[in-house]
Amino acid sequence: MSKVRVRFAPSPTGGLHLGGVRTVLYNYLFARHHGGDFVLRIEDTDQSRFVEGAEEYIIQCLEWCGLIPDESPQKGGAYAPYRQSERKPMYGQYAQQLIDAGHAYYAFDTTEELEQMRVRYKSAENPSPQYDHTTRLHMRNSLSLSKDEVADLLEKKTPYVVRIKMPENETIKFHDLIRGVVNFDTNLVDDKVLLKSDGMPTYHLAVVVDDYLMKITHAFRGEEWLPSAPVHLLLWVYLGWDKDMPQWAHLPLILKPDGNGKLSKRDGDRLGFPVFAMDWNDARTGEVTTGFKERGFLPEAFINMLVMLGWNSGTEQELFSIEEMIEKFSIERVHKGGAKFDFEKAKWYNQQYILKKDNTELASLVMPFMEAKGVITTVDFLTKIVALIKERCHLLTDFWEQGHFFFATPEYNDLAPLTEKWNETKQSFFTKWVGQLSAITNWNHDALEANFNEHMQQAGLKKGDVLLPLRIMLVGGKFGPGVFDIAALIGKEETEKRVKIVLGKM
Ligand code: GLU
Repeated sequence: MSKVRVRFAPSPTGGLHLGGVRTVLYNYLFARHHGGDFVLRIEDTDQSRFVEGAEEYIIQCLEWCGLIPDESPQKGGAYAPYRQSERKPMYGQYAQQLIDAGHAYYAFDTTEELEQMRVRYKSAENPSPQYDHTTRLHMRNSLSLSKDEVADLLEKKTPYVVRIKMPENETIKFHDLIRGVVNFDTNLVDDKVLLKSDGMPTYHLAVVVDDYLMKITHAFRGEEWLPSAPVHLLLWVYLGWDKDMPQWAHLPLILKPDGNGKLSKRDGDRLGFPVFAMDWNDARTGEVTTGFKERGFLPEAFINMLVMLGWNSGTEQELFSIEEMIEKFSIERVHKGGAKFDFEKAKWYNQQYILKKDNTELASLVMPFMEAKGVITTVDFLTKIVALIKERCHLLTDFWEQGHFFFATPEYNDLAPLTEKWNETKQSFFTKWVGQLSAITNWNHDALEANFNEHMQQAGLKKGDVLLPLRIMLVGGKFGPGVFDIAALIGKEETEKRVKIVLGKM
């Protein structure tokens, strides 16, 4: 068998959807599993959809995920260039070969003529007429016009496109690695444009030519490309390359959590979760869309969550290191049906990886999120905090929510839970307790707890009476890790200060 070569072939048109990252991941795992090559090819032939910065952004997303291609526009490789716009001169000859063999034709129709056709043939049975075997002979192309007319138009440099001539009444079959045998009726497929009037190929021609020239052995892509498969298959056959055709796998859609249909960026906005891998800053609109990275996901967790959206190992195991994924992944175990995205489950994965992480490493990962909130601290101090609160955090952003009181005195906006049960005994207990804190020499959890309990007993109070008040004084709310851990970390002065502020408000 020839060496496995797979490709991820994105168009640089916007943010990288998690479905796109899953396509990268499955390609990557398959390549690594088989000791093959993973190629990144930028499909930028549609200049009207090109977005400045989108290619760099895709590369950064792959880097963040640790899914680094073996060949790419940046790295180069034996099959360079890897940007289709730079390969433009290569495609024309194949379009010509298809025309010469009668599988493609010149079409001279103007935009207005195409519009007129759509209006003319529109009917109840055919609400959106296509350029196909039913209409092509009524249009201006090298099938309907005489040889001389065509020669004349070409001579006069009349703009044209090249279209594939879809055969009539044929069934096209192919074997998909996930779906098994898939059939298509050629009558339902239109005569797709292969080469545009500026000489640039369309995706359909370019994807086939490049998969052939780059010796791609397996082509995995999203299910949304399934309707294009018959066109691609015919091109492989018509160009005489069918024995080299890659094996296909169309990956299932990632579905919205509620209802049906593909998960879109809009669902993320509506339901409050990210859909793109990283923040996407749209240069055209100025809109910034939050990514998984900036929302506080660890790349290992993101990848682990994604591998399970459409695949399972056949066991109950849910947590996989990248090495295990490479070892266990097989394309045959990818499901046919769509996989519903579940943000709560995604957060669960992230928490599993947070819990596994070494505290110092975790602190350095949390640091930028703290800095973004204006916190100035050291990795040392943050490591201690991270160790105390990691069990309460699902996302790296949660560390601020769960631990901001370590860095700033709380605002005490809601003291109602305290005032409700406040009395003289508590007031005098806390006043007395705070007054002797300066005498404590070894300021640590155990010494503090012992000191607090002693005073509590002397005052005839119980833990149930005073621990929650102390928590509210130190934290500003009813949450957080152990109160004596908090006091030990924020220090004597700050503890005194907070208790006194609250006593002053009682
Ligand atoms: N350029 C296509 C995309 O943007 C690639 C589809 C394929 O892999 O064939 O998804």
